[in-house]
Amino acid sequence: MNLARFPRRRYTHGFTPIEAMPRLSAALGGPQLFIKRDDLLGLAAGGNKTRKLEFLVADALAQGADTLITVGAPQSNHCRLTLAAAAKEGLACRLIIEERVAGTFSTEALGNNLLFDLMGAANIRVVPLGSDLAAEMDKDAAAVRAAGGKPYTIVGGGSNPLGALGYAACAAEIVTQAFDMGVPFDRIVVASGSAGTHAGILAGLAALNAGIPVIGINVRRQRAEQEGNVHKLALATSALLGTPAPTREDVVALDDWVGPGYSLPTADMVAAVRLLAASEGILLDPVYSGKAMAGLIGLVRSGQFAPDERLLFIHTGGSPSLHAYAHDLRDPALNNA
Ligand SMILES: *Cc1c(COP(=O)(O)O)cnc(C)c1O
Repeated sequence: MNLARFPRRRYTHGFTPIEAMPRLSAALGGPQLFIKRDDLLGLAAGGNKTRKLEFLVADALAQGADTLITVGAPQSNHCRLTLAAAAKEGLACRLIIEERVAGTFSTEALGNNLLFDLMGAANIRVVPLGSDLAAEMDKDAAAVRAAGGKPYTIVGGGSNPLGALGYAACAAEIVTQAFDMGVPFDRIVVASGSAGTHAGILAGLAALNAGIPVIGINVRRQRAEQEGNVHKLALATSALLGTPAPTREDVVALDDWVGPGYSLPTADMVAAVRLLAASEGILLDPVYSGKAMAGLIGLVRSGQFAPDERLLFIHTGGSPSLHAYAHDLRDPALNNA
């Protein structure tokens, strides 16, 4: 795997840390738990989209673009980080917000919505669930061109093969760190949404022949559909890299912790967010890493792992949206309202 062949902007200094979570392991009476702190990646408040944007924005700049256009949910971390990258590079940025739950976008909302405003989105347009998002982005691109600009559109979550290279790079980073730490991880657990993170890791691990299985925890889709999406993107990413691809059997995307739907809180998510905060001082998020951690905890509690297994959870970020979910996350025992 020769990632240096692909143009890349640098938004993070060095590797993100891998930390042991001894208090969480003790609380669960479970395996040895470690966390890859991708919440500490660069750009405003970090998170997994930063790795994808290093490759996507480099491509935009190579094409001479002056405006980034992308799409996401009302509390989209991807939109926040695309906007941050645009600000840093001196580009304009237009956002299309897909209201996956009707009526949930409000310009008054805190969390990422506030940050869209602070970082100066050139335009924000709300479209309903089920919209043709590629066509909506094309409309914005046409408007930019009509005004004499050069648009560059980025798919939702930055999840195309170029963006997924960011997580192939992360897989290489993990393998290097595991060697350095002398900790041969038995398994990796990660949130699986628009699939670029999960697919990129699988492509990177396959390229390195690392032999570390990955468990994806879905935040939106049913298992079969998500596994199909992840595998398709992993194959395309491996093709771009020119490396051996993961098999369909390598793709595991469990759907037991989605709850009533994308971004809708679950009791397990709230418990996971609160447990990580109180036991390790680490902030997860309600939409992705909270549900992924609920999945990891659920798997540990149901005895899926041997006590001496070493599990690496990838923290994909997202903590800015905690503030938009305060009402769901507070301890009811402390809440007199
Ligand atoms: C986007 C996102 C994910 C999911 O990553 P995908 O590449 O879309 O599957 C996980 N966690 C956070 C915090 C995210 O913003």
